Amino acid sequence: MQVLNKGFVRLVEHMGGDAAVIRNARRCWRSESKSEDADRQLLRHLIKKGHKTPFEAMVFTFDVKAPLFVARQWFRHRMASYNEESLRYCVAQREYYIPEQLEGDLLDAWKQHSEAAFDFYYELVNTYKLPREQARSVLPVGIYTNFFWTVNGSSLMNFLMLRTAKDAQYEIRAYADAILELVKEAAPISFGEFEREVLKRGG
Ligand SMILES: Cc1cc2nc3c(=O)[nH]c(=O)nc-3n(C[C@H](O)[C@H](O)[C@H](O)COP(=O)(O)OP(=O)(O)OC[C@H]3O[C@@H](n4cnc5c(N)ncnc54)[C@H](O)[C@@H]3O)c2cc1C
Repeated sequence: MQVLNKGFVRLVEHMGGDAAVIRNARRCWRSESKSEDADRQLLRHLIKKGHKTPFEAMVFTFDVKAPLFVARQWFRHRMASYNEESLRYCVAQREYYIPEQLEGDLLDAWKQHSEAAFDFYYELVNTYKLPREQARSVLPVGIYTNFFWTVNGSSLMNFLMLRTAKDAQYEIRAYADAILELVKEAAPISFGEFEREVLKRGG
């Protein structure tokens, strides 16, 4: 799913889903899945009461391409695993974030500034043979980075609650909104109820 001008988020794989949450939750009552309606009510009850551990039974891995400043906010979510492309080992690609509302002279100036930073970076790497890990210092925080994010359903709900909120920065909110759509397909009962009960919207 495309996000921002050059970014994306993809659900690479997931384990569990609604069935795993229902199975784990029902262990508390020594019961088994009965009907979809009863299972839905159960998950709604768990979400309302903050009984979160059954949602840890589902795990998602996303492939993310996002501006550095978004990744910096994202990586504050510690209950997850990250693997990020390294600019010690890889050469940065000439890609940078451009806010949608920019136009005219301001858009031109933004591009010139970003392009000049990349020109200097490539000169440092290719001509001056400066180590990549030092040369990257001249790049702006709007450059894109790539990472895999592995997160369980409970921690993902915490991320979605914080990062789909109106006071979250627009750019990370765009990723959180896209992720919500992806996980509603993978685990429709869990994230449908979560959207209704916690985010208080749609669903
Ligand atoms: C709108 C917004 C503005 C923000 N502004 C700033 C800012 O200006 N500066 C800044 O530094 N951060 C800022 N943050 C980041 C914020 O403080 C959190 O670090 C981030 O949202 C991750 O949330 P979390 O700790 O719940 O998630 P996770 O790190 O995934 O943790 C999940 C849960 O595990 C528990 N947990 C994890 N680690 C610990 C621990 N060490 N001790 C106790 N419990 C733990 C907590 O219950 C936590 O909610 C902002 C976040 C938002 C959404």
